[in-house]
Amino acid sequence: MILRHGVDLAARHTLALPGRAARFASIDDAAQLTAPELRETPRFVLGGGSNLVLNGDFDGLVVHMAIPGRRLLTEDADAWYVAAGAGENWHDFVQWTLAQGWPGLENLSLIPGTVGAAPIQNIGAYGLEIAERFHSLTAWDFEKQAFFTVDRDACRFAYRDSMFKQEGWHLNGRVAITAVVFRLPKAWTANLRYADVAQELAAQRIAAPTPRDIADAIVAIRRRKLPDPATTPNAGSFFHNPVVDAARAAALAAAHPGLPRYPQADGRVKLAAGWLIEQAGWKGRNLGPVGMYEKQALVLVNCGGATGADVRRTMAAVQAAVRDKFAVDLTPEPIFL
Ligand code: NAP
Repeated sequence: MILRHGVDLAARHTLALPGRAARFASIDDAAQLTAPELRETPRFVLGGGSNLVLNGDFDGLVVHMAIPGRRLLTEDADAWYVAAGAGENWHDFVQWTLAQGWPGLENLSLIPGTVGAAPIQNIGAYGLEIAERFHSLTAWDFEKQAFFTVDRDACRFAYRDSMFKQEGWHLNGRVAITAVVFRLPKAWTANLRYADVAQELAAQRIAAPTPRDIADAIVAIRRRKLPDPATTPNAGSFFHNPVVDAARAAALAAAHPGLPRYPQADGRVKLAAGWLIEQAGWKGRNLGPVGMYEKQALVLVNCGGATGADVRRTMAAVQAAVRDKFAVDLTPEPIFL
């Protein structure tokens, strides 16, 4: 493990904002986490940087998780148990499981980021969250100077949420996830709950899709709708979908015909943040070098040369516009460093 100084972070996160880390260590073996140099605070644990807004220079230690490895741990009559190192690229891992003949993660194809970051916000897309395929994870606790393993219940997964966010550990760098184990059930059924996926497969005249067909359909949809961070820096969905009580959702729908509403198991109703932003006039609109993407209003994009302050300015303007029109508060999804 080599401790580096003054490391440029612009290329290490997908919004490509300027900023340097005072100290930076890349970890490719979990045993390196015990090094005394890593006890320094403030500390930030970095994966693929796909959910990060950099506010400028970070006067602390960035621990970059680059632990590789993926393998079948075991299988039983019902499921395959597959382990992956925290530094594995998420999409490559999903494609590898499919190539091995272990389906179950196909709906999460092409989500940017790493395996180790995935449980922190319980990544989800097209009707699947990793909580549904999660078995356990191992992590290093910098405060206790010990490794620990937690199962699915202990992780307290919820909508884009987990114990790691509930405890504030994603912000204060207390814990680094080193490896994740997934449970992929052998009984497989296609998850076509989201209209976009069903429509894409219908357009391709695929009536009985395989896991590979679903992965390919989702890759095609995402490539069409979402900007590629390599050319248009972004952090994916920038706001959470707001969840409101049923009466509030009904009142909003009466005032705003066409309002998409998705009833939740707890009786509340999920609204689509992207729709609210679009209706508030922000789809394809910029404030300085930062705007909301022209094909998907939920994605905030750096159009070139933006700083963290520019991002916060556009974020505040979008939140104000949505609040004025709908009296709904949008909360940002990324972490602000
Ligand atoms: P979309 O299909 O335009 O739908 C807009 C919103 O409505 C989505 O955010 C989705 O909520 C919700 N929705 C649509 N169909 C639904 C259904 N059948 N049941 C429940 N909720 C439904 O969405 P999109 O923006 O193109 O995104 C497609 C998927 O990719 C979504 O699941 C989205 O969350 C995911 N995605 C995630 C990120 C990220 O950074 N976290 C980035 C891009 C896309 P949900 O978001 O709760 O699914």
